[in-house]
Order: sequence, then structure tokens, then C-alpha cells
Amino acid sequence: MNTDTIVAVATPSGRGAIGIVRLSGSNTAHIVQRMTGTLPPPRHARFTPFLDLAGDVLDDGILIYCPGPYSYTGEDVAEFQAHGNPVILGQLVQAACACGARPARPGEFTERAFLNGRLDLAQAEAVADLIASQSARAARSALRSLHGEFGAAVTALIARVQQTRAALEASIDFADELHAADLLAEQRRECFALRHDLGVLLGRATQGQRLSGGANVAIIGEPNVGKSSLLNRLAGSDRAIVSEFPGTTRDLVDADVLVGDIPLRLIDTAGLRQTEDPIEREGIRRTHAARTKADLVITIVDTDSASRGTHDALLAEFASAGQTAIVVHNKIDLRQAGPKCEAVAGIDHVHLSALTGAGIDLLIAAVQRALGVDAEDESEFSARSRHLEALQGALTAIEAITVDDLEQAPELVAEHYRTATQALEAIAGRYSNEDLLGDIFARFCIGK
Ligand code: GDP
Repeated sequence: MNTDTIVAVATPSGRGAIGIVRLSGSNTAHIVQRMTGTLPPPRHARFTPFLDLAGDVLDDGILIYCPGPYSYTGEDVAEFQAHGNPVILGQLVQAACACGARPARPGEFTERAFLNGRLDLAQAEAVADLIASQSARAARSALRSLHGEFGAAVTALIARVQQTRAALEASIDFADELHAADLLAEQRRECFALRHDLGVLLGRATQGQRLSGGANVAIIGEPNVGKSSLLNRLAGSDRAIVSEFPGTTRDLVDADVLVGDIPLRLIDTAGLRQTEDPIEREGIRRTHAARTKADLVITIVDTDSASRGTHDALLAEFASAGQTAIVVHNKIDLRQAGPKCEAVAGIDHVHLSALTGAGIDLLIAAVQRALGVDAEDESEFSARSRHLEALQGALTAIEAITVDDLEQAPELVAEHYRTATQALEAIAGRYSNEDLLGDIFARFCIGK
């Protein structure tokens, strides 16, 4: 297949020991020969000068040529490993363009890998997730997806849904009275098993999405309970102003921190209290807005404060809004009490000191639990919201199957299985449309 040849700098902008320019497309071998006067054997490193069209030496370095189809993109690919100077790398790109290449769009190398069947869509997305991952654990989960474990789990489920549907359709046509009960029992078993296994996969993907996508966490409470101190403690730096004077934090202060492998945006909010000060009132309005949008709310009580009533009312409000909360009882050092975490009515209450740091590890564990990240079981896959929606769509379709339907309306059940299959197939990108692909690859960096 004839493709136009694309070129881009594959290493980050700025200066470094090495900078890589990458080419992919039908014209690669020709361009490499024009720019180096040589074509090394496939997958061999060759030290060579890099030339412009006039034959002037721009730099020298290592050249690697990987003919398709066993290359990253599936096409002929070459990499020029030059010195990491943006001027030199720019000249190499220009020289390649003068020989007939064109600058690549963001993610275009990976898009070609997908279009040429080298990666499925979930793997292509895992490439971007691997590059963007912020913790070693998130990187490992992206690598699992890139190695195809997520895709393989989805493909296995698709096969099972299809087999179950085929067995069901066969039973509609051929079942005799004698075997009908056995077939029905078998269908019931498989339907429940599918529901269970889809739920497990959704759980693993949800964990993975948390690790890569992170979460917004609002820290709320009355003035002076230690909200800013807790944010600073978790951020490991003095992001928010700590003061003994109530009402210091009037606006929202954010900090992006990695807590228990999860990238969190912590939002320190204005203290909740009745006030006539218009600026503080605006701060409190913003606090409520941030709180309703947060994935998790950490609500702090100073055990000495006399405000338990307001606090209990807040907790009831979170519960009715379906919002996850953790209660922090701060300043245990003042009471000479030890740190602890206890669950009360399904909510973790963590007793700690933001000042000394005692009990922070308990809070981190509680945050992981609240956000569904299992500290012990690291089996998640990096996943995107579109994967979660697809898995949820498939699960909803299978959950809609009732025992009565299995017995009396097998055609309807078959339809639910079809819906589930389609939802799952969207993950690997089997029926992807151009808008979806454009959206996914536009978020990549250039050169990937
Ligand atoms: P905020 O208004 O809720 O943000 O509270 P701050 O973080 O500004 O803290 C208010 C005051 O409480 C400051 O004087 C802090 O040093 C103090 N404080 C915060 N956390 C602790 C703690 O765990 N123990 C003690 N003894 N003091 C604390």
C-alpha cells in the first residue's frame, strides 16, 4: 500500500543528549538514502552523517531502518538519532520534507499503527496513557493494556457473549421438550457468569481510570480546623496559607499531588461559617460549588469545635447526594491521642494531626479505598471513560435479561446479547468512526 511519508521529532522539545527524528511511510527508504547516502540492513544501528539536500552535513548520529510490516506503524520506518538540539532536529525535519515527507499530525504514527492492525484501539490509547502516567503503578497498568491484556479480556468476553447467543438461538430452533429445562439452566448460569465477569472487568478498568485520570478532592470544614495545614501536609509543601486567624482562605487553593498512586487535585476551600464579609461569602459559595463537583470530600472537624450539629447535617447531605466522604478529626496532638481510622455508618473517620503528620498514612489508605483503588490487588488496566461507558453499556444490556425472558422471550435476550457485543467491540475500535479516532489521536503528542 502506498502511503505518504510523515516526519516528526519524537523526543521532547528542548536540549538533551540525543534527539530523535522519526519517519514513516512508503518513501522512507528513498528519503533515508538521500539524507545519508546509505540504507543500513533492517534493524541495525549505523553511525552516519545526516545531510541536507545540498549534501551539507547537518549532524551525524545513529540511523535505524525498520521496513514494514514489522515496525511500530506497520510501514517502513526510520529513526535518526541526532544530537538533542532543537535547531538541528528542525533542520533534519526540513530536509526530510524537502525530500518528499510531510510533518506528522499529533499521534499520527500510532494512528497508522492502529489502521495497519499493529495495535487495537485500546492498545493505541494505552500508548498515550503510558506516556502520561504519573506514578509507577499507573505506568504498569498502562503497560498491561498496551500488552493487550485489557483487549484480550474484552475479546474473551465478546466470544462468550456470542457463544451464549448462538446456543440460545439454536435452542429456539431445535429444543425439544426433554432438553428444554437443561438448556434453560445452562443459559441462566452463563448469563449470571457473564454479568459477574463483566462487573469484575468494569471494576478493574475503573481502578485503572482513577490511576490515570485522578480525582478531585475538596477539603471542607469550619474556619481554623486545619484545612490548609492538611493540604500542605499532603502536598508536601506550603501551598495554602496556614494561620491562626479564622477566614484566611477566602478563595479556592488547588494542589496537584500524588496520593497513594492516585493523582489528586486537592482543593482547599474557604471555611464554612456565617459571615457578612462579601468576599468571604463569595469564597463560601465557591466552596459549595467545588464540593458538589468533587469526586471525594474530606470534611475536617476539630475535635474541640462545638459544631457537631452542622457537621452531621453536612454528612447527611453528602450521603443523599451519593457523594463519597471521609471525616478527618484533626489536632489529635492537642489531646495526646493516637492516630486511628474507624468506619462509622460506612464512612471512614480518620483521627490525625496535620501538624505532626501522625495518621496521614491512615488517611491515604482511606482515600484509596474511597476512590476504589485497591492497595493490595494491582490488577487494573489503564482505561478511559469511553471504555468504562462501553463496559457499563454491555453490563446494562446483560443485566436487563430476566429469567422470565430466558424462558419466554429468547429473541429479546438475543437482542440484549447483540447490544452487549456491540458495546464491547467499540473498545477495540472494530466499528470506530472517524470522529472518535480524530478525538483520540489529537490528544497524543507529535512524533508518537
Ligand atoms: P484552616 O483555616 O481550616 O485552613 O486551618 P489552618 O490550616 O490555617 O490552621 C489553623 C490553625 O490550626 C493554625 O494555627 C495551625 O497551625 C493549627 N493547626 C492545624 N492543624 C493542626 C494540628 O494537627 N495540631 C495543632 N496543634 N494545630 C494545628
